[in-house]
Amino acid sequence: MKKETRWFCPCNWTYDPVVGEPSQGIKPGTAFEDLPDTFYCPRCHVDKRGFVKKDLIHDLNVVTSNITAN
Ligand SMILES: [Zn+2]
Repeated sequence: MKKETRWFCPCNWTYDPVVGEPSQGIKPGTAFEDLPDTFYCPRCHVDKRGFVKKDLIHDLNVVTSNITAN
């Protein structure tokens, strides 16, 4: 089971720290917490204070057993 923290904009755009945000000079591997205060959503231009933190949990075993049951 893998837990992953992602930050969501109200418009549903998600910041992916693996990818970064090249259009704003954010390098791949930059944690959301390390983004500059000037960071904004590239889709709706909300600034980083408008983002909401969510934990995504990937449980591959559950997915596999559901497929088997069907
Ligand atoms: Zn947005």
